Amino acid sequence: MEYETIIGLEVHAQMNTKTKLFCGCDNDAFGKMPNTTVCPICMGHPGTLPAPNCDATEKAARAAAALGCTLSNDHHFDRKNYFYPDLPMGYQISQYDFPIAKGGKIEFSPLTDHRSSSVRCRLTRLHVENDAGKLIHAAGRSYCDYNRAGTPLMEIVTEPDLRSAADAVLFAQELQRILRAVNASDADMEKGMMRFDASISLRPRGAEKLHPRSEIKNLNSFKSLERALIFEEKRLRKLWEGGTPQAREVTVHWNDEQGIGIIMREKESSADYRYFPEPDIPPLRLDKEAIRRAASEIGELPGERQSRYVADGLHTDQAMLLAGDFALATYFDVVAQAINDPKRAASIVLTQLMGFLKAAGKNFASGPSPDAVIALLAFIDKKIIGANAGKNILEKMVVTGKNAAEIIQEEKLGRVTDAKELEKTVRRAIEANPKAVADIHAGKEKAKAALIGFVMKETRGAAEPTEVQRMITEMLHTPKKS
Ligand code: ZN
Ligand code: MN
Repeated sequence: MEYETIIGLEVHAQMNTKTKLFCGCDNDAFGKMPNTTVCPICMGHPGTLPAPNCDATEKAARAAAALGCTLSNDHHFDRKNYFYPDLPMGYQISQYDFPIAKGGKIEFSPLTDHRSSSVRCRLTRLHVENDAGKLIHAAGRSYCDYNRAGTPLMEIVTEPDLRSAADAVLFAQELQRILRAVNASDADMEKGMMRFDASISLRPRGAEKLHPRSEIKNLNSFKSLERALIFEEKRLRKLWEGGTPQAREVTVHWNDEQGIGIIMREKESSADYRYFPEPDIPPLRLDKEAIRRAASEIGELPGERQSRYVADGLHTDQAMLLAGDFALATYFDVVAQAINDPKRAASIVLTQLMGFLKAAGKNFASGPSPDAVIALLAFIDKKIIGANAGKNILEKMVVTGKNAAEIIQEEKLGRVTDAKELEKTVRRAIEANPKAVADIHAGKEKAKAALIGFVMKETRGAAEPTEVQRMITEMLHTPKKS
């Protein structure tokens, strides 16, 4: 029998606010000493009260608008009760039945298969909640680091619309691009800023009914998301093929080092969490103006950006690279607009400049500015330097930090240095201007100006005038003017 794989995701994305969700603690705990960015509020001490962070609400609203969700006028926080040592309050402040946003969708393009159109995955909801701390297990002991406790998270839940591990990864990557584009999350996987819980089940192809799923918890890289889903898909398939499909929902703990999933326990249901409205925070309201503002602040989304670049004639991989990196795309757009040639801008910025930066161990911020690159291209367009010289100058700009004009002057690159080429042009000038030549022979020194002008025009200003004059004198055997 053929089976169909059904996958849904719950994504936790850390919001890039300055402070935590309910207190003024620094939200950037990365690299900080354990338990140094904490206070009595995020440590859940008795007598403290949470104060919701407006910035987090705005970022969540903007992300929701970018994901096509419907923002709720009224939403509120709920307590989700569970005990775990890294959860100092003994409950998480989350959103249960009235999340900030519902619905929405993400569309992404499958890279390499027969499906030509894009794939759509519907979203169920987006809600806001605080993160727990971190448990560190070392040398037979367990330690708690509460720096991350209270960090604002967006939880984005999908419908079970994904059909393969590969699609789940493409979905997650598209989500990452969107959250970054609207500046709601840095979504840096290596810093644990985006984590996935993946649900998977199988059913006979063509059947409607969904079967008990496995929920794989806390996957924190695209690679482990894909590997864990492939592992669990195989395990479930074997059960189906053995005639005893999984009868109950289970939780799977993925061990990335060993590449295996361990069936941990039966899944908690929402009843286990005894949700109730958070009594310390009043219900929240997004007015029309806040909802309008969220929608107006989205700007051009990565998918739209990518289509624009493809329409401009860029390669798909170039368009994807730009769409996924807002800072790079902004840099690129400045250059492309100035020279009014996106393809040429792609070759200069994405091929030449990126290559030189990489070789020099630098990034865009420490390399030449877009204006410096535009100035270099102007030298090429005015034929002051050739395209090849331009490439060498760009490399020197990256290495030395100097601008094009400085390098051209220092290395005398802006002049025709090939004497034979110049001689040919001078000879042409002489042939084309018999009257001026006759005047020169007649002693009219000023007539040389016509020949020099011809050469300068021919070389578009790249010839050295005194050198041209010397050649004219030599070729016409006129006495040197001292
Ligand atoms: Zn705090
Ligand atoms: Mn959650």
